[in-house]
Amino acid sequence: MARQISDLKLRLRAAGAGPSHEHRVLRLWSQALPQASGRRRPENFLPQTLLAALPEIESDLAALARLRSAHPAADGSERLLVELGDGQLVESVLLPRDGLCISSQVGCAVGCVFCMTGRDGLVRQLGSAEMVAQVALARRRRAVKKVVFMGMGEPAHNLENVLEAIDLLGTAGNIGHKNLVFSTVGDPRVFEQLPRGSVKPALALSLHTTHADLRERLLPRAPRLTPDELVAAGEAYARATGYPVQYQWTLLEGINDTPDELEGIVRLLHGKYGVLNMIPFNSVDGLDFRRPSWERAAEIARTLHRRGILTKLRQSAGQDVDGGCGQLRARAGRRPAV
Ligand code: SF4
Repeated sequence: MARQISDLKLRLRAAGAGPSHEHRVLRLWSQALPQASGRRRPENFLPQTLLAALPEIESDLAALARLRSAHPAADGSERLLVELGDGQLVESVLLPRDGLCISSQVGCAVGCVFCMTGRDGLVRQLGSAEMVAQVALARRRRAVKKVVFMGMGEPAHNLENVLEAIDLLGTAGNIGHKNLVFSTVGDPRVFEQLPRGSVKPALALSLHTTHADLRERLLPRAPRLTPDELVAAGEAYARATGYPVQYQWTLLEGINDTPDELEGIVRLLHGKYGVLNMIPFNSVDGLDFRRPSWERAAEIARTLHRRGILTKLRQSAGQDVDGGCGQLRARAGRRPAV
């Protein structure tokens, strides 16, 4: 089964596609091939040789990912449980305002102590085609104009495949480059490679605390970048691309919502080209953290605003259908690695 976009390109070339045909087939696929109509229909622009090969290529693509179940929430988001060709399950989330959050791995090796996905470790990497297939599946339900790599997995641990998916989505997939968001705990390879790509995504960095020792406890297998180093690298990327960095902060009561942390945030982020996204922790069975009250979280956001930090307080999307990423999969049952 072809799981990499580069494999698909080779197959298309073998079937007689030139560069423009290849681009158009991939474009149709990433925009949900079965819905092609009018001038976009393959028979209107593909040569006979390629048309003859298309059904087999199409069925391969359809086998990459299928929708197992959909879980709409009151906030307009919708969690999608997606089954991959080998039966592994990942989650995507349709977000309000035409956004989609997709997964880049089954499981995750970083092991953040407040995350359900991290509890099982890494099961397997997703191929680039499986990532784009999540977008194609979601586009059958509604428009997708923004894709964030913030679902299950750490994109930096699957860097080559994620960058290949970003490249396709930013070209044939017709998504604006700043509307592609690479989310990471921070990894030196990301800061080296992202600026070199022809499609440069926006960056989201998981900060969560301003203290290096606490960060090591919360994100036990993240690269050992201190919060200061992380923000310095993010700032350089933001200035180079012109897109502000999104700093992610899961609010954990009594752990990273203290006055000391707020002082640390002001010290670290004041004057930086970025926005702080605070998301109160989503209570999960078996995880021993507490969620601060919404009033307390709102007060923190107001305090930071007054101190000159652009802060957005967000609910985790689809909270009423299940908490953090990985919970739908956990409830549906896991499969061992193949
Ligand atoms: Fe991995 Fe993200 Fe979960 Fe951390 S929060 S364990 S990086 S999926």
